[in-house]
Amino acid sequence: MEQTEFKKAAKKLTQLEKMYQISLLTDWGYKNPEGSGPWRKGTWSISELDKLQNALAILANYMGGADQFIKNLGGVTIKKSNIGSHGGEALKHQISLSAKGTFSAWTVVHEMAHAWDANHQWKLSVALERYTGGFTSPTLSKIKKFFSGWDAGPLGEEDRPGRHGRLRGCNAAGYFYGDKPSGSNWNFNRKEDFAESVAMYVGWHTNNDLTYWAESRINRYLLENGAKDKNFGADNWADYKRYFYPEGGDYTKTKRWKFVDEIMHGKIQVS
Ligand SMILES: [Zn+2]
Repeated sequence: MEQTEFKKAAKKLTQLEKMYQISLLTDWGYKNPEGSGPWRKGTWSISELDKLQNALAILANYMGGADQFIKNLGGVTIKKSNIGSHGGEALKHQISLSAKGTFSAWTVVHEMAHAWDANHQWKLSVALERYTGGFTSPTLSKIKKFFSGWDAGPLGEEDRPGRHGRLRGCNAAGYFYGDKPSGSNWNFNRKEDFAESVAMYVGWHTNNDLTYWAESRINRYLLENGAKDKNFGADNWADYKRYFYPEGGDYTKTKRWKFVDEIMHGKIQVS
């Protein structure tokens, strides 16, 4: 954040707070709060504030407006912090975005979905798991490892084709997803499934900031085995097609799309 953008940024913060009850822990400003001392640039840029605001507007619109958004999430504080290699982290009323590099609209919606789930005692992801016919069983996952259908190494994901842990139950959580998610890897579980399903729903064929990524997640399964996708790297995409590629390439045919559509319209409610 440059000093000249300071007023513009302050206005945006007020808007985010008023409209969505989203507050940002900012790291820019004067070293002394009374306005003296050197300017501190911080890790946020004004274009990131725009990106954040756009992503929130897109999600709120799907939820039926800003009031419903506030009702679903109950207020969230966003900060940037050093959280390792992944792009974000979320708890009830709290989201951390990586201070390294920037974030995407996809990451914002994904993390907001976690905060929404957290605000409902993580019961939304339990509901998704049930709705799609999945279950979580670390025991069955261990059994599967000894018999068949294990596409990872003995200790988890490996960085080579066919070893990322994409098959049902082949992940750290022992998550046996049902129907067809848009993807899976070693870190997949019902919470990640819920967050990705919300982002997929919001981005699918709507021409917004999430659309390119939503379509890329599906189109990668049309590649040949061993082919390198520019966003997702090399994998045996053709082999995985039957687990993840929706009927006719149409994501609205999946149970996940229907589930998110129903919660967005208040047809599924959890206490
Ligand atoms: Zn996540």
